[in-house]
Amino acid sequence: MGDSILTMGVDIGSTASKSVILKDGKEIVSTSVIGVGAGTSGPTRVIKESLQKANIEKEQISYIMATGYGRNSLEEADFQMSELSCHAKGAYFLFPNVRTIIDIGGQDAKAMKIGDGGMLENFVMNDKCAAGTGRFLDVIARALEVNVSDLEKLDAQSKKDIAISSTCTVFAESEVISQLASGSKIEDIVRGIHNAIAARVGSLAKRVGLMDDVVFTGGVALNHGMVRALSDNTGHKILTSPLCQLNGALGAALFGFQKYKLMARKKAKVKA
Ligand code: ADP
Repeated sequence: MGDSILTMGVDIGSTASKSVILKDGKEIVSTSVIGVGAGTSGPTRVIKESLQKANIEKEQISYIMATGYGRNSLEEADFQMSELSCHAKGAYFLFPNVRTIIDIGGQDAKAMKIGDGGMLENFVMNDKCAAGTGRFLDVIARALEVNVSDLEKLDAQSKKDIAISSTCTVFAESEVISQLASGSKIEDIVRGIHNAIAARVGSLAKRVGLMDDVVFTGGVALNHGMVRALSDNTGHKILTSPLCQLNGALGAALFGFQKYKLMARKKAKVKA
């Protein structure tokens, strides 16, 4: 990698661990996602995997920035930053016209208002209840005996709107089971579930003030059925990227680069 500066962002979520290695603060050289989060082997494995993919040693990384729910337990990290700041940073890098971020992760959902230069201006968060989070979809997918990665395909096949009225995960699971028993199609139930989550999360986004560009991040943004539902609910175009689940780790790697440059400049001043 010659004289280039490599930084790593590690996002330790409640459900998944994510890592991004960045060259000179602008080029993504490696990414990794491991489907287990804080308190598991996920953080160690995600670091190892992203290094292996890029064929580099940990010693070649100039700065490691941790973020996410489990950020304070990562020994390898040089520093930690809040996931809100990292999400704002990552989304601004991917979508320079971003004004609203909707992030749905494993155990929380948040809406962020972004100002000029990608600055975080305001946010609203739901972390008290599983409804409206990836956990909700994980539970429902299990009840329907499908994988979460199949939900978007099923949503696209649906031709009928079914209203899911329960706002609680446990009650919604029972409602889904009774819908199945009464002969409703899986694809229509999946669409109904997506619409129910979009109604919940859409109202969070409206509270921060929805403005274009609206960017959807977090693991749940990989599900284009949720992208469809959020677009229907808000009336806004919803932008996503294949990197949406890595957005926090990307922001952390970008902050890591800034911190490293600042440190290097300070060192140079002391020497002079
Ligand atoms: P956290 O940061 O809280 O650990 P993430 O942003 O990594 O959460 O998102 C995890 C959630 O993403 C899981 O609950 C799961 O439902 C969802 N998810 C992960 N991969 C996919 C996929 N391929 N398709 C649909 N949903 C997915």
